[in-house]
Amino acid sequence: MKNYAKVILQPKKDRSLRLFHPWVFSGAIAKVIGDPKEGEIVEVFSNENEYMATGHFHEGSIKVRLFSFIETDCGEEFWYSKFRKAYDNRERLGLIGNTSTNIYRLIHAEGDGLPGLIIDIYGSVAVIQTHTVGMHEQKNHFVSALKKIYGTALEAIFDKSSETMSKQNSMQMENSFLYGSQSESEVFENDVKFYVNWVEGQKTGFFIDQRENRKLLAQYSHGKKILNTFSYSGGFSMYALAGGASEVHSVDSSKKAGELAVRNAELNAVTNRHKFHAMDAFDFLKSTKDQYDIVILDPPAFAKHLSSVDKAMVGYRNLNTEGFNKVKPGGLLFTFSCSQVIDKILFRKIVFQAAAQSKRNVRILYQLTQGPDHAISIYHPEGEYLKGLVLQVD
Ligand code: SAH
Repeated sequence: MKNYAKVILQPKKDRSLRLFHPWVFSGAIAKVIGDPKEGEIVEVFSNENEYMATGHFHEGSIKVRLFSFIETDCGEEFWYSKFRKAYDNRERLGLIGNTSTNIYRLIHAEGDGLPGLIIDIYGSVAVIQTHTVGMHEQKNHFVSALKKIYGTALEAIFDKSSETMSKQNSMQMENSFLYGSQSESEVFENDVKFYVNWVEGQKTGFFIDQRENRKLLAQYSHGKKILNTFSYSGGFSMYALAGGASEVHSVDSSKKAGELAVRNAELNAVTNRHKFHAMDAFDFLKSTKDQYDIVILDPPAFAKHLSSVDKAMVGYRNLNTEGFNKVKPGGLLFTFSCSQVIDKILFRKIVFQAAAQSKRNVRILYQLTQGPDHAISIYHPEGEYLKGLVLQVD
């Protein structure tokens, strides 16, 4: 075993670790032996000096993010076995070798016991996004593990961490290919086709977490006039059109997202029923005279921190009020929030207020969340970030 710096916990602070909670907060620490640098691997011990877990050391309120609860040398074999387990779990979900879907999340941070690491698969390409220095420093191990698992089926690995690393760690770095050079691919999800460009696109290129929710939308779309706000590359729009929608309007403030949505409509041969508006969604909702059978609201996170929850609540409430106003009687509202700091109970309250403000009678048909490849560790409820409601509006 290597000689890692040691983090000794306060008395009784080992309890949450015995329940596999993956974070150690600064207040739980009695002392640190050695002088670990940002991102360095450390071992955590109880106050009685019993080994508890291994993780990455970081400045901030979360001091250690744990990735192993058994002693490890953190070598190539260790990372491979973690990846292999995540892969086998995706295989059990039917996401590997699936002829209808070749887009999925392979590694979902804490959900896969790897805090700070996201890996999304687009056909033959893996896109890595690290959120911590510690994980970023392991990237060579990730490349080896991915190559070993996928073999020749893997054509490129792209490191898309510059945005997350600069925002969360003030670390300046460029996105880069760790293997291969392909920047875009035509991929498919439930037989709906998409161009995904991980170099130019937002996040890792596509919002994979909405897969199941898009499928649900398709079931209700036949013959319907649909408004998809915050549409990005047209994920919900393409499903609605595949489901037989008579007309879909996509709205996004990003022109680049619009170009992708237009190309995706061409790819699925549905351009005659699809229209993209490069516009602020609030402005569109306020100015349009149209009424829709189904309205989708899938905004970016309005609150990134607890400090901005109040302001975000007002934003979500106003957005949902406008959304309700645009739904024809008997129609549906698909509404989402991906702000981790707004939990599902609070989100439901906000939507309640919006329903009241719009004076519509509303019933909850479905309560939605992220897809099963974005699974949440039961010991880490903080991992549940996507909330959705499907509402029938009288
Ligand atoms: N529903 C999409 C993902 C939405 S991500 C999918 O399933 O793929 C959020 C999107 O909102 C981004 O594309 C971003 O460009 C857009 N956006 C952010 N602020 C906006 C605003 N004020 N008006 C319209 N679009 C906005």
